[in-house]
Amino acid sequence: MQETDVVVEKIVTEHRVLVKICRCGKKNPGTAPEHMKAPVQYSANVRALGVYLTNQCISKERISNIFEDLFELPISDTTLIGFDEECAQLPTLIMRCTIIFILQAATN
Ligand SMILES: [Zn+2]
Repeated sequence: MQETDVVVEKIVTEHRVLVKICRCGKKNPGTAPEHMKAPVQYSANVRALGVYLTNQCISKERISNIFEDLFELPISDTTLIGFDEECAQLPTLIMRCTIIFILQAATN
């Protein structure tokens, strides 16, 4: 017997950057993970799901509602458009792999 499940949950990962202060007073901050481009951002999975839903002819308002209902995650129309533009212009390997994974999961 086999039971398949999907997990729908919001995961917030906090990345802390340690700052060490030298005896001379100079601050030496550590480096954040390379994929972190802003203090607060949406993950590749969130962006990929936004792109996927946007390309299913679902209105931005409904997509926003889906994110809010399923993940308690407010995403504006403008942000969804930004995800789509990002994917079209700069499809990173992670983004492409995630989209492929979502598309495969949707067709299985
Ligand atoms: Zn020093």
